[in-house]
Amino acid sequence: MKYIPLKRHIKARLSQLKFALGLNPSVERVEDPAQFVPQGYRGVVTVTADFELAWAPRYDNSVDDPYAYALGKARQERQNIPGLLSVCEQYQIPITWATVGHLFLASCQSAGGLKHPEIPAVEAYEGPYWDFNGKDWFEHDPCTRLEEAPEWYAPDLIDQIIGARTAHEIGCHTFSHIDCRDEVCPPALFESELALCKQLAEERSLQLVSFVHPGHTIGNLDTLSRMGFTSFQSDPGNVLGYPCQHDNGLWELKRTMEFTYRPDWTIDYHIQRYCTIVDRAIQKQAVCNFWFHPSCPAVVVEEILPGLFSHISERRSEVWVGTVQEYVGWLNRNPKQRK
Ligand SMILES: [Zn+2]
Ligand SMILES: [Zn+2]
Repeated sequence: MKYIPLKRHIKARLSQLKFALGLNPSVERVEDPAQFVPQGYRGVVTVTADFELAWAPRYDNSVDDPYAYALGKARQERQNIPGLLSVCEQYQIPITWATVGHLFLASCQSAGGLKHPEIPAVEAYEGPYWDFNGKDWFEHDPCTRLEEAPEWYAPDLIDQIIGARTAHEIGCHTFSHIDCRDEVCPPALFESELALCKQLAEERSLQLVSFVHPGHTIGNLDTLSRMGFTSFQSDPGNVLGYPCQHDNGLWELKRTMEFTYRPDWTIDYHIQRYCTIVDRAIQKQAVCNFWFHPSCPAVVVEEILPGLFSHISERRSEVWVGTVQEYVGWLNRNPKQRK
């Protein structure tokens, strides 16, 4: 028998127990849940991928060598994406790709020793998942071409996503995976990152409307709304809940569960767990917002997601499945007393 650290093993068992008891995800109570579900259906499922290659983990404070870790994650993500697109196509499940804007670029170069001078300098801060020392936010940007450094550029993958037969959505995850909290991110920084993302997307005739704050560093919401975005996603701790609309018009979608792989669980248990969440959404008339990092272990793409997606596909007459943009569009076209 292989050695399993006891603490991790106990945590995995406790999580299974909490799940069996219906405590995780928790289920939000509202008076009239049906008002959040398109007519003819009994639940909603969306799937969002935080698409970031090396940009997100480059300062990860949970590992010894974050730069090497980031390159490894980026390579894994590149390997996973073609298979992921096939699974989506097989079961016709669209994904909302919250995309780091730098990935639109095929190359970039420094100007007078400055990398991306169009983006204001980022000041030092400490964050929940990564800290920044305040020197050069773009220090890891190789300022080269896709062919030389495929961990930092991904127009090829974006082409695959928008060229797929499934109608995926390209969303926004800032240009360089900044921390967006009001206390560390001035509006000018936030605005310049998003303006660049929008410009790069428009060059491909894409309009960005769905946003995900990196590391759930929620902030700059009025600027987000003013720049034409219609939604963002929060992580109040795994919830099957309902979207709420802010005064500035933005819809807040609450995240339900991340697709991950835990070695203490069997593959079948992973599949059963995610399928049960879909069943609970249908049972409670709730909104299930799955999310994940496409840099996940290959087994998630090769075995776990096919199991889940085939289940969603079987229940498609009961559960509405679509992109975040489509769902928010439906919410806006059907204004009811949702306060
Ligand atoms: Zn660059
Ligand atoms: Zn991220």
